[in-house]
Amino acid sequence: MNIKEVIDRGSLFLKEISDSPKLDAQLLLCNVLNIDRVSLFLSYEKEIDDLMKAKYDALLERRRLLEPLNYIIGKREFYSNDFLVNHDVLIPRPETELIIDLAKKYINKDVKNIIDIGTGSGVIAITLKLIFPNINITASDISEDALKIAKRNAQIHKVKLDFVISDALQNIQNNFQMIVTNPPYVKSSFIEDDLSLAYEPRQALDGGESGLEVIEKILKEAKEKIDKDGLVIMEHGFDQIEGVKSIAKKYNFDYLGNTKDINDHPRVSILKWN
Ligand code: GLN
Repeated sequence: MNIKEVIDRGSLFLKEISDSPKLDAQLLLCNVLNIDRVSLFLSYEKEIDDLMKAKYDALLERRRLLEPLNYIIGKREFYSNDFLVNHDVLIPRPETELIIDLAKKYINKDVKNIIDIGTGSGVIAITLKLIFPNINITASDISEDALKIAKRNAQIHKVKLDFVISDALQNIQNNFQMIVTNPPYVKSSFIEDDLSLAYEPRQALDGGESGLEVIEKILKEAKEKIDKDGLVIMEHGFDQIEGVKSIAKKYNFDYLGNTKDINDHPRVSILKWN
């Protein structure tokens, strides 16, 4: 069988479970053959050997059981860079890039220290450090295993961050001019119903019964750790804007605005402490 036939067969096998079966089939094969997609296209007429074919079939089986593609290939692109991911960290979603866009808009010379709460694979903290090398960036997470991945990603991208194990802001000593976070905000009941989330760390998704519990915890603790006029840039669910506004009000943050995702839902909000 040649490469093209193998991909067509793989794509058919994933048709029912994936929104992008052909792309998945191609990326899984790239992973097995250890080549990029351009090289894959150039190899379409080549025959595949039995060992590679067997490896590929095993990956297709995993994908068919709904394991996310990025866990299978062990990496994910974020803001045009590749990051390692495994089952200890959430797979970064495209909407999380909106945090970077908003931070870029608001960072000025007064911002010297930023913390990324619940850093997971470290994508937000590392991307900000790559863009703003002179700002001190702390990356915190409640999970030691997640921090291991974040540290490896920081090494790969050759950036230096301060890593702290912490439940929200509990173990954080310093003060910050900006807090960025993609906290767990999915309602507990929703996680149980969604099979595609089953592979991801529950701790990174579960926002309690209301979905807003961790968001509230962060804002409650943030007031001790944020300077006057400091900003909080926070991702949340597509239907949580009113909840976020009322929690912000409760803890005396001004609601400055938000950015919408591709479905036109407000997904990242910016708050100011005064
Ligand atoms: N965006 C993720 C999802 O909907 C949730 C991420 C999070 O809870 N921080 O699957």
